[in-house]
Amino acid sequence: MSSSSLSASPLMLITGASRGIGAATASLAARQGYDVVVNYLSNEEAAQSVVRDIENQGQRAWAMQGNMAQEEDILALFVRLDERKQRDELGPLAVLVNNAGILRQQMRLQNMSKERMQEVLLINVLGPMLCCREAVKRMSTDEGGTGGAIVNVSSGAAKSGSPNEYVDYAASKGALDSMTIGLAKEVASQGIRVNGVRPGFIKTDIHASGGEPDRVERLKSRIPLGRGGEPQEVAEAILWLASSRSSYTSGSFIDVLGGV
Ligand code: NAP
Repeated sequence: MSSSSLSASPLMLITGASRGIGAATASLAARQGYDVVVNYLSNEEAAQSVVRDIENQGQRAWAMQGNMAQEEDILALFVRLDERKQRDELGPLAVLVNNAGILRQQMRLQNMSKERMQEVLLINVLGPMLCCREAVKRMSTDEGGTGGAIVNVSSGAAKSGSPNEYVDYAASKGALDSMTIGLAKEVASQGIRVNGVRPGFIKTDIHASGGEPDRVERLKSRIPLGRGGEPQEVAEAILWLASSRSSYTSGSFIDVLGGV
C-alpha cells in the first residue's frame, strides 16, 4: 500500500488493546480502515500480535506501552502521537476508545481495602478522564483540530451495581457513564461526540481477575440470549459509535448484555 493511501486512514487509539475487547476492537477497526495505536500495560507479546494482525489487514499499527492509571504515562503517550503526527507518520487522532479497565477479587464491600478501591477507581475512572482531556485538546475544532469520537467502555455493572462481587467496580463504571453524559454535552459544539458501551458476560480474561475464570459459564442460564458474548460483538458496537454512521448520536450508550 502506498504511503499516501495509508496516511488517509483515520487514527484510533485504544487503551488496553492487547487482549479481550480491546484487541477485538483493534482488529475490527483495521478491517474498517483505521490505523490503530494499541496501548497495553505489560503483555507486550500480546500487543505485538494485535499489531501484526492489523498490519496483515493492510493498516498501520503501533504497540505503545503505558499505564493508563498514571498521568505521566498518559501524557507521554499523547506526546508520542503528536511527534509522529509532526513527522507525518500518522494522521490526527480521530477516535479514542477508553477500554482499559480492571476488576479485583469478588467480595462484599465491607471486606474491601482502601488500596483496592483506589486502584479500581484510578484505572477505571481517573485514567479515562485524563485520556479524554488529552484527546479533546487535540480533536477540538476550537483548538484547530478536526473533531472526533470518544467511546468509553463501561459495563452493565454500572446499572446492576454488582452486589457481592465488586460494587467498587460497578461504582467506577457508573462514574464513567456520568462523565460520558457530561462531556458529550460539553464538547458537542467542538466537533466531538462521546458515547459509551455497556458490555456484560463477555468471554475474556477479566473474570479470572475476579477469582472466577468460568463466571460467564456459571451465569449463562440467567442471560436471555442463553450464552456469553464474544469480544467481537462488543467491538461492533464500539466501531458503530466511533464512525460517522452514528453521526447524530452523542451522550448515549449501547448495552451489549445478551438481553439482560
Ligand atoms: P481483559 O481481557 O482483562 O483485558 C484488559 C486489557 O486492559 C489488557 O489489554 C490489559 O493490558 C489492559 N490494561 C489493564 N490495566 C491497564 C492499565 N492500567 N493501563 C493500560 N492498559 C491496561 O479485559 P476485557 O474483558 O477485555 O475488558 C475490557 C473493558 O471492558 C474493561 O473496561 C472492562 O471493565 C469492560 N467490560 C468487560 C466485560 C466482560 O465481561 N469481559 C463486561 C463489562 C465491561 P495487558 O495485556 O498488558 O495486561
